[in-house]
Amino acid sequence: MTITLNPDVLRHVVDVHCHPTDAGEVSQLEMDKLEITICAMSSMKSDQQRVAALAQANPDKVIPCFGRTLSTESKGSYHPWFSHLIRLESTTSKEEHYRKLLLHDTAQTKLEEHTQIFNRLLPTLPDPIPLSEVLDELRSNLTMHPGAMVGEVGLDRVFRMPYDYFAEKRQLTPFTIPLEHQLAILEAQVDVAVELKRNVSIHSVKSQQATLDLLRKLAQRHGDDWYRISIDMHSCGFSPETWRDTEKAFSNVFVSLSTVINHKHSSLTRLIDMCSPDRILAESDYNNVEMCTPQVLQIIELIAEVKGWRIEEEWVEELEEAKWGAVRRLAENWKRFKKGGHPPPTRTLSKRARKKQLLDSSSEAGSSQGGDGAP
Ligand SMILES: [Zn+2]
Repeated sequence: MTITLNPDVLRHVVDVHCHPTDAGEVSQLEMDKLEITICAMSSMKSDQQRVAALAQANPDKVIPCFGRTLSTESKGSYHPWFSHLIRLESTTSKEEHYRKLLLHDTAQTKLEEHTQIFNRLLPTLPDPIPLSEVLDELRSNLTMHPGAMVGEVGLDRVFRMPYDYFAEKRQLTPFTIPLEHQLAILEAQVDVAVELKRNVSIHSVKSQQATLDLLRKLAQRHGDDWYRISIDMHSCGFSPETWRDTEKAFSNVFVSLSTVINHKHSSLTRLIDMCSPDRILAESDYNNVEMCTPQVLQIIELIAEVKGWRIEEEWVEELEEAKWGAVRRLAENWKRFKKGGHPPPTRTLSKRARKKQLLDSSSEAGSSQGGDGAP
């Protein structure tokens, strides 16, 4: 049983990761009924326009997120599930590209079998799309939609390539995609996000260490710019201990939880418990817009229970922090996520940045407004 909320409260709920256009066209009637805000991820090529159109028709409810995962024609892909459709070097032929990726670590004993499967599969695979093209498209989509995020992108060690993604009963090939390939594609896209100052929704499955290493590398490479954007670890499968270390290390990394994915993890309540109250977000990860609200309310209920937060029965505009309920806390987290501009760790602050911070704080103290004024 999911809780029902007063519409005034519901208006402040944000589903930070869902795929409404995955299930096909979303009707305006469904959107009119929607009472929460959703972050709509892109996956397929056709999604790109669908997500953009959805956001244009419902600017108050939809935050578009670009990160193509698959298309029947070009299959250009950002999501780790479809990273094999992107080629890193412009020189390799289609066959070379797929051979390198799919037969990369085949054991000698399996080589004959896998080569046979590979030969059968190859004609059905599209020409790989150059990464530069994928990045150009991402850049142009983000530029056209100033409020858009990057998503869904990430790493997935478990995913096995299906013979046909669209088949009713998906049959899996024995092929996984090398992590280095996934990493190169993820890294390039996050670089674009930093460049254009956009937040990112990251998928990470059985890739805890690789994800952390990448975050560290990106933080180092981008310096203070890294902290201008926010990163959401979507349906995060990190262990509670790893999460605690992650949020300590990076002031710009948040976690979003869903019942559909996170309920499979036995450590979910410990993860919620361990997570700092100001870094947690809620999501449905659903592909049916009518399910977004009940799904996200379900996880909010669990977060509230574990954190010992009450759930608001009505919305009070001005409220001191000690009295905030679960919906308000998550909404405030979302606001900070959306706004970005997190404090870089002090030890990495450059002299110039330190001086600027000092100047900022002294001018703030001296101004008649006092503080930033925003609630
Ligand atoms: Zn997703």
